[in-house]
Parts: sequence; structure tokens; C-alpha cells
Amino acid sequence: MGLLSGKVALITGGSRGIGAAIVRRFAGEGAAVAFTYLSSPDKAEALADELRATGANVRAYRSDAASFQEAETLIQTVLTDFERIDILINNAGVTRDNLMLRMSEEQWDEVLRIDLKSVFNLTKHALKPMIRNRGGSIINISSVVGVFGNAGQANYSAAKAGILGFTKSVAKEIGSRNVRCNAIAPGFIETDMTHALSDDNKEQFLAGIPLKRLGQADEVADVCVFLGSDLSAYVTGQTLSVCGGLNT
Ligand code: NAP
Repeated sequence: MGLLSGKVALITGGSRGIGAAIVRRFAGEGAAVAFTYLSSPDKAEALADELRATGANVRAYRSDAASFQEAETLIQTVLTDFERIDILINNAGVTRDNLMLRMSEEQWDEVLRIDLKSVFNLTKHALKPMIRNRGGSIINISSVVGVFGNAGQANYSAAKAGILGFTKSVAKEIGSRNVRCNAIAPGFIETDMTHALSDDNKEQFLAGIPLKRLGQADEVADVCVFLGSDLSAYVTGQTLSVCGGLNT
């Protein structure tokens, strides 16, 4: 018996990076897993095939998390395929970094749509089925920069800070229905998103990290297992930082 046996999880942006690590870890803990991708169909299908070969119940769906309509269709399709959704992980996200003086309206809008509106879109459509099932766990992937800001990321920091306010409000609204809503604030995790950082930048960040290393996607997935499982049955409205102590 895994920690997530009998549960159905929906994870956005599961084709690469942190999302792919969560998909693997959840399947390993016995969850049935539905996950989405947008522009990496080959990676998504390869991951689903790899996990199905181990006997796991995993399916990949192409769905733009920034689209309200596509989110509604996705939730209906996942309910048809899996019958229920116990855990929703809003993980899909992008960066479009620039200093405020140079940031375009497109860079602002794109990050707010993909990183923040997506969380509204999926949560909105998943809530009713969770309430009908008398329980659920929603996990929103924010960032430490949503807590303390970062030069060159005003758009991304605003979206990630927005997720924290959204998480606390939703937790207050639906706690009485046994649906929990928490956020995770990763620090610097080794994925495609952080590979773009220069060595100088990485050195600068490392100096401020008490554990003196970047984090691994698996280490974020571990905390998702905790928040998705019954181990966290009395935890809601919280932000758990997975950052090697960066925010300490
Ligand atoms: P990543 O390696 O760039 O992967 C991003 C994932 O999001 C991909 O699977 C991508 O799918 C998906 N995605 C992007 N736009 C999408 C959309 N509109 N609809 C559906 N899926 C979409 O990023 P990551 O580092 O794993 O980051 C995952 C989450 O953690 C993000 O929310 C990010 O902000 C957050 N985070 C990351 C770090 C870090 O250091 N890496 C730190 C703090 C927070 P396709 O490739 O199929 O398009």
C-alpha cells in the first residue's frame, strides 16, 4: 500500500521538471494520475508509457491551463476516465523575466495568465466534484519569490504572490467541506526553468542557501506527497517552503 493508494490526482504541467517528478512519485505511491502538457507531447507520452509499463494507471492530456474553457473540458474528461479527483496540483508555470523598465504588457499578461489564472481555472472546475466526494486536497505551486520578490521578475513574483492569497482564501471557503488547499514555495530547483540562469547568478543564490545546493524536483514532489496524502489531514491554508532554507 502506497501513501496515495486509492486516490486520483490531476497534475498540470507534468511533462517536464517538477511536474514530471510529481507524476512519477505519485504513481509510485499508488495514485492514479492524470497529468497535462502543452508543447511537449513526446515527453508527456513517453512518461505515461514508462509508468504504465510498471502497472501504474497514468494518462497524459493536452490542455492549456491558461484557458478557462480547456480547464472545464479537462476536468470533465478526467472525471469520465477516472471517476473522481482527490488531489489537484496546480504546477504549470512559465517565466518571462525582464526588469520593470523593459517589461512589455505581453510579458506581464502571459505570466499572469499561465501562472495565476490557470490556478483559478482548474480549481474552479475541480471544486464541485471534490465537494461531492466529501474531500480533496488542492496543492498550488507558488515560489519563494512570491514571498520576498526578485529583481527582474515583477510579473512572476506577482503571480506567485497571488497564488498565496488565493490559497488562503479558498482554504477558508471550503474547509468545512473537507477540501484542503495549500501552497508550496520552492526555492531554486534544478529544472529547465533554472538552467537558463548564469553561473554568476547561481553562485549568488547559493551563497544565500543554508543547505548550499540547488534543490531537486523530487524534493518538491516529496512535499506534494505529504500534502496530497492523509498525513496532512489537519493542514490547510499553509505555504510550505522547499528552498534549502533560502527564506530563513
Ligand atoms: P519547467 O521545467 O519549465 O516545466 C514547466 C511545465 O509546465 C512543463 O511541463 C510545461 O509543459 C508546463 N506548462 C507550461 N505552460 C503550460 C500551460 N499553459 N498549460 C499546461 N502546461 C503548461 O518548470 P519547473 O521548474 O518544473 O516549474 C514547475 C512549477 O514550479 C512552475 O509553476 C514554477 O513556477 C514553479 N517553480 C519552479 C522553481 C524552480 O526553481 N524550478 C522555483 C519555484 C517555483 P509543456 O512543456 O508540455 O508545455
